[in-house]
Amino acid sequence: MSTTALPILSTVTPRKREPTPLGSVGVKQKTPRPPYTPQPIDARPYSDEIAQWMQVLRTVPLLELGARADALRRQKVGGDVVSYIVDRNINYTNLCVTDCKFCAFYRRPKDDEAYVLSFEEIGQKIDEAKALGGVQILMQGGHNPYLPLDWYLELLRFIKERHPIHVHGFSASEIEMISKVSKLPIDEIFVQLKQAGLDSMPGAGAEILVDAVRDFIAPRKIDSQKWIEIHEAAHAAGLHTTATMMYGVGEVWEDRLEHILKLRASQTRSLARGKGHYTAFITWSFQPLHTEMEEWDVPLGTGVDYLTTTAVSRLILDNFDNVQVSYVTQGPKMAQIALRFGANDFGSLMIEENVVSAAGIDFIMPEQEICRLIDSAGFTPKRRYQDYTLVDQHPQGCPCCTWRGSLGDQGI
Ligand code: SF4
Repeated sequence: MSTTALPILSTVTPRKREPTPLGSVGVKQKTPRPPYTPQPIDARPYSDEIAQWMQVLRTVPLLELGARADALRRQKVGGDVVSYIVDRNINYTNLCVTDCKFCAFYRRPKDDEAYVLSFEEIGQKIDEAKALGGVQILMQGGHNPYLPLDWYLELLRFIKERHPIHVHGFSASEIEMISKVSKLPIDEIFVQLKQAGLDSMPGAGAEILVDAVRDFIAPRKIDSQKWIEIHEAAHAAGLHTTATMMYGVGEVWEDRLEHILKLRASQTRSLARGKGHYTAFITWSFQPLHTEMEEWDVPLGTGVDYLTTTAVSRLILDNFDNVQVSYVTQGPKMAQIALRFGANDFGSLMIEENVVSAAGIDFIMPEQEICRLIDSAGFTPKRRYQDYTLVDQHPQGCPCCTWRGSLGDQGI
């Protein structure tokens, strides 16, 4: 195992993405905004708690909310370290049949721009990431009905044998698609993916875990119960996962609170089982550009909204250790401030990102800039692995992968 110092990512510069040509969007018809009537509080799970948090939101000033969340951050993670990870998003396919109305990334099967990356292309991207100090890849793609389970198993074995690195991959709804295509139950899918080399699962696809909202923005995606069941199945298989919330899609505050409370209940169950659990929570506001919802007139998330959501999430999710900012969607300055509203992680220095940038948002920046932002907010920046172990405390490589014996020599 080499112990060469990790390179500083000064070579990664902000990228400019050209807007998607209108013609390539093809089937993304502009549809009118459907009507949405939120459920009353007393018809919801956790109704008393939702009512109590609504009262907090109405009566506690933002800075006081932030101070409470900051105190809880200190209690949960201690000290003044703010961590970040160096990784690369690899979107192995953009072919998708689920047509989420908020998505600017996917292409329908017959679209000229639909693709599936070859194993060699994926391997090359991993090698590039490792050369820049990357310690994980985030593998996510569309719901591609032409890829059976064997394709995923072969890919994972290929990565672990030829380009070993931590694989944080395949969100809950992709897992459900694999299960459907392969006609195998979810828990069996996890057993096989884990054996082949899957190390952890990202929390994408949660959006808002309230079915009335999901029906409104992504009617063909798994429902909220299924999203939670799949995460708990991953935990039962010994995999850690993350959890997310994309807000600002037309929902009401009660929906956000229901979402966060569902996550807390799910974490309680998983921690009691003692295998995998949620390692972190990440929230961000919907980015409408180039999506079917672009003309729905959904009010864009504001800074106050983001800080409130971050602080409330930290306060409610008292069984989650880590809350991550989303500088990619909120911008670096807002991300800095969120570090005083309960967040303790700056997320990922993404060597490549395609999903948010497809919606016209591009705040990717070099590592020195991330460190400068963290430092000037009054914290100490530290690189981490997926399981939140700090790189300088474990220079031999990702402890999760090392423990599983699946990493080999990362060359770092
Ligand atoms: S968010 Fe995912 S599932 Fe939905 S359309 Fe985009 S790629 Fe497909």
